[in-house]
Amino acid sequence: MKVSELFMPTMKETPSDAEIESHKLMLRSGFMRQLSSGIYVYLPLGYRVLRKIENIVREEMDRSGAQEVHMSALMPRELWEESGRWAVFGPEMFRIKDRNEREYCLGPTHEEAFTYIVRNEITSYRDLPKILYQIQTKFRDERRPRFGVMRCREFTMKDAYSFDIDEKGLDISYRKMYDAYVRIFKRCGLDVKIVEADTGAMGGASSHEFMVPSSVGEAEIAYCKACGYAANLEKAECLDEPFETAEKMEQIQEVFTPDVRTIEELVSFLGIEAKRFVKTMIYRADDRFVAVLVRGDREVNETKLKNLLKVTELELAGAEDVERITGAKVGFAGPVGLSIDVYADNEVKYLKNFVVGANKTNYHLKNVNLNDFEVKQFADLRNITPDDLCPKCRSQKVTIERGIEVGHIFKLGTKYTEAFNCVYTDEKGEKKLMIMGCYGIGINRTAAAIIEQMHDEDGIIWPITVAPYEVIVVPVNVKDQQQSSVAFEIYKALQQEGVEVLIDDRDERAGVKFKDADLIGIPFKVTVGKKVTEGKIEVRNRRTKEVVEIDMENAVEAIVNLIKKEKAQYEV
Ligand code: ATP
Ligand code: MG
Repeated sequence: MKVSELFMPTMKETPSDAEIESHKLMLRSGFMRQLSSGIYVYLPLGYRVLRKIENIVREEMDRSGAQEVHMSALMPRELWEESGRWAVFGPEMFRIKDRNEREYCLGPTHEEAFTYIVRNEITSYRDLPKILYQIQTKFRDERRPRFGVMRCREFTMKDAYSFDIDEKGLDISYRKMYDAYVRIFKRCGLDVKIVEADTGAMGGASSHEFMVPSSVGEAEIAYCKACGYAANLEKAECLDEPFETAEKMEQIQEVFTPDVRTIEELVSFLGIEAKRFVKTMIYRADDRFVAVLVRGDREVNETKLKNLLKVTELELAGAEDVERITGAKVGFAGPVGLSIDVYADNEVKYLKNFVVGANKTNYHLKNVNLNDFEVKQFADLRNITPDDLCPKCRSQKVTIERGIEVGHIFKLGTKYTEAFNCVYTDEKGEKKLMIMGCYGIGINRTAAAIIEQMHDEDGIIWPITVAPYEVIVVPVNVKDQQQSSVAFEIYKALQQEGVEVLIDDRDERAGVKFKDADLIGIPFKVTVGKKVTEGKIEVRNRRTKEVVEIDMENAVEAIVNLIKKEKAQYEV
């Protein structure tokens, strides 16, 4: 492709509304443009990258024995009524009506559609197991679309679903997907951490997320440098480690704390450390209210709370409810004298003489102890912190890092097959529920994560496996007859070798062309300049910045070899 003809609207300035590097670079390099909040269009270079990622995903899915299908994005309400998710999916689902007022959604995910098809078409154990997948557009009305295609409202997902006769079969399908994901991300040049993820209240199931460590990631990962344990923050377990204080229990005491509501405000007002406070959070859990206690310097882990209470909906109570329940303005809630159930984090068990809200506006209570109120249940209800020991090996403290979730695999069990009565007949003629797993990869988010991991001040550094083109040939001065003709010869010969190659034939200053080549991240730049009179040209590796001078005569062979060597490191 000639750059003079390529639709590649690069930008010199950094777009002001882009906050993270991948978003800035995808706009600056002319890979994509925003159409509306969380909605993007892909231009030629960007689309080539997406297709390359898709192809890697497709090859590895096929290699694992999964079969590609294509479901509709538009799905009728009735399908989602069968699983019960029409009611519980909430505002993230785009819902529309047809001309006859029938309701539909634009698929945010496809468990329903796959289970429906398999239920109708597969009846015997002889036809199982099956792993089916698609690469398709998903729609999610995210509360906060941001960071470009990292969190957008229309995106491409590879989603796969496995159907097995029993748990043992599911384990095998799950392992196949797990291994395929490891190969996919390696081929994409991504360094991923595989972490345990929460599976909700369904005991026994397992789930893993594939995370790209990055400071702009929206997820947090706790891991152990000693034993390799890794879990996302929602899942990571906090050990119940008893600790003793020699302190004597003091007399409870009411203190006047005018307008002092938050832990930070209390710390400076009372001059007491945050860990001597106990926070009381009031939640609405399905149709009741509960209070949750954690130490002042800790955060409630809502996933753990949800699992403990076995509820589907959990949210912080609104101001009105808090006032009605506590009899005080928000910021003064406490467990003493509270009439709703109180759940407390394990750590609270070992505290003495702590400070809580007094359930009276502008007052707190000091020297509160466990015998001053009733706790319905103690449990692990807080987020893990860098103070905590690894819950697995206990040999050292955990490290907490941010990460971008690019993939997610999940043992669903019978959640959907039960709802859809998706059964098979076994060898004895008995009907049994199929056992399911689901497996997703965000294609666009993967592209953005690659850029987050692979860029420098000059632009993107695409791994050669996903780069829009492998080589860019740059004649320094197109008006120079020899430079131009040698450049075109090499370009054509590379094309004939099956190399994906660009030639920057624009009548621009060399500096401009070099900058663009670096910005769009092409792995090899072949410069045809003055030395062409001596039969020499230059090849630069974008990633290693290594420059080699090669002879014009065997240029093509040399470049093809460099490409081979570069590709080798992404092989699986
Ligand atoms: P998140 O917690 O980031 O919202 P999720 O748990 O909702 O992700 P899944 O439903 O497991 O994600 O979807 C599978 C994959 O799809 C994710 O791992 C991610 O790569 C991608 N994905 C999910 N939501 C978005 C989005 N809004 N924009 C781009 N990619 C997304
Ligand atoms: Mg989500």
